[in-house]
Amino acid sequence: MEVKTPKTLREAITYFSNPDNCVTYMAAKRWPNGVTCPTCGSTKVKYDAKTWRWQCASHHPKRKFSLKTGTVLEDSPLGLDKWLPVVWLVTNCKNGVSSWEIHRAMGVTQKTAWLMLQRARLDVIACRDIQSYRCYDHCSRRGAARKA
Ligand SMILES: [Zn+2]
Repeated sequence: MEVKTPKTLREAITYFSNPDNCVTYMAAKRWPNGVTCPTCGSTKVKYDAKTWRWQCASHHPKRKFSLKTGTVLEDSPLGLDKWLPVVWLVTNCKNGVSSWEIHRAMGVTQKTAWLMLQRARLDVIACRDIQSYRCYDHCSRRGAARKA
């Protein structure tokens, strides 16, 4: 499925303020060949539009999952509506982004904006291909391996 990519920060914020758009956008990036369960890899999953979550048809722990499940965003308290515009900014604004810009545009504190920016930059560097959210799976697997 082809998804539209916002052209400006204002457009990105408006676009990602709609949870349906976040799901459409990120699901298409993360699972270009269809949604798969992050725990067992099954494609037999059911989408619940009310909670923006999927449920795997197989019976195992953590059968309910969201877009953040199994990614580096999983432990982030920030919603995708805040996170995706920052990732979008870092990947699309080649001239650099300041935390003040994010602070003003998104109404988060400048400290939060700075932390988000650091993390988004690290993700971009670590993944190289941020356009593809499949990279998040690799990164989180690496993280899990390090902890083990
Ligand atoms: Zn499963």
